[in-house]
Amino acid sequence: ISIFRNLKLAPADPILSQTISFNNDPKPLNYKINLGVGAYRDDNGNSYILNSVKKAEELIRNDSNLNNHEYLPILGTNNYIELVQNFLFKDEYSNKLLNENRILTGQSLSGTGSLRLISELLKISNNVNKIVIPNPSWSNHKSIFIKSGIEKIDNYRYYNFKTQRLDLVGMLEDLNSLNPGDGVLLHVCCHNPTGVDPNNEEWDKILEIIERKQLIPIFDMAYQGFDKNLNDDLYIIERTCELIFKNNKIKNMILCQSFAKTLGLYGERIGSFSIITSNKEEKEILESQIKVIIRSMYSSPPCQGSKIVEMVLSNPELYNEWELEVGIMRDRLKEMRMLLFNELKRLNCHGPGVNGPTGWEHLIEQNGMFCFTGILPDQVAALEKDSSIYMTSNGRISIAGINSGNVGRLSRAIAGVFS
Ligand code: PLP
Repeated sequence: ISIFRNLKLAPADPILSQTISFNNDPKPLNYKINLGVGAYRDDNGNSYILNSVKKAEELIRNDSNLNNHEYLPILGTNNYIELVQNFLFKDEYSNKLLNENRILTGQSLSGTGSLRLISELLKISNNVNKIVIPNPSWSNHKSIFIKSGIEKIDNYRYYNFKTQRLDLVGMLEDLNSLNPGDGVLLHVCCHNPTGVDPNNEEWDKILEIIERKQLIPIFDMAYQGFDKNLNDDLYIIERTCELIFKNNKIKNMILCQSFAKTLGLYGERIGSFSIITSNKEEKEILESQIKVIIRSMYSSPPCQGSKIVEMVLSNPELYNEWELEVGIMRDRLKEMRMLLFNELKRLNCHGPGVNGPTGWEHLIEQNGMFCFTGILPDQVAALEKDSSIYMTSNGRISIAGINSGNVGRLSRAIAGVFS
């Protein structure tokens, strides 16, 4: 008899299974439209390898010290750690925390791996009663925390489904009802799936409650550079560091960061975790504990992505080119939002929104790679069945899947399900 006989079929991942349906659709590739997966595509619908990355790869190949497949240290190389820290914590106050030796950073298996390591660490620290995540959030957040054995995961109000905007009042109310030491997961920018972010003034209000209630901010940063730019998107991180340094009421901050989208290194699984600790003794303890977690989970991190990151972050010419390329991706996404908006308007298709005369204003108000369109599940199903247009059933579309060649057909199909 099989030892696996008690296992039942697990539910398919809502996003990844949607890509499988897209691939299985027999219609020609230039007809089908995939608005499901969150990976950047150029205006021809092709994946995009950044020039800065290509040049970094070339430099790595030609350097006999780097052109190898040796094991990395458990937390990544010291060079990686230092470069990533200087990239993320370069403003006045975060830099002061860095100089006080209070920030623990390590390489992670992209953003997901970073969240999972943090979750394991929170579990063994045995001091976090509850973690709250926005409603809605990236579907993996809850699963990651639960898999580590953190039992209490709640939602806080975030998106107002009626106004397609931030429910700031609801969010502040929910955060205000938490207890000291509760963890709050926050998307740093380009919230997935809604594309709705707090502005700086709203962040300040959120942070005021986090400080007053002594909550633990857990920042997830998967889309750095896709809202304003690589530096300005760090606003909430820098403000939190400032409060920690000046007031010392918030003792800890966690940052889970990914290079997947921002450097186009999706499959390389490269990112980092950073923890602001109370003091350098605590940092040492956490470092030792997280090494034990990594050692038994995957032993040491992969080396190709980290070499590329080290090369781009340490070479000013490559870094400048990277910043420009992030700008190209960001601008194309904004342009596609506008194009879709204009096409729907031209077709006189009235959308589900309430922020202006067309009902589609939320398309251009939202940020980053995703848009929460308000297209309903039965309309999503009709678009898939009749037009081979794929999106998640909650009406989230990946803007990166839109291009000047398919926006016309996409708009007509959407207008069709709204008529
Ligand atoms: N966090 C959010 C909000 C995301 O949308 C994603 C990816 O879609 C991730 C984290 C993690 O991505 P990765 O593990 O590829 O870095």
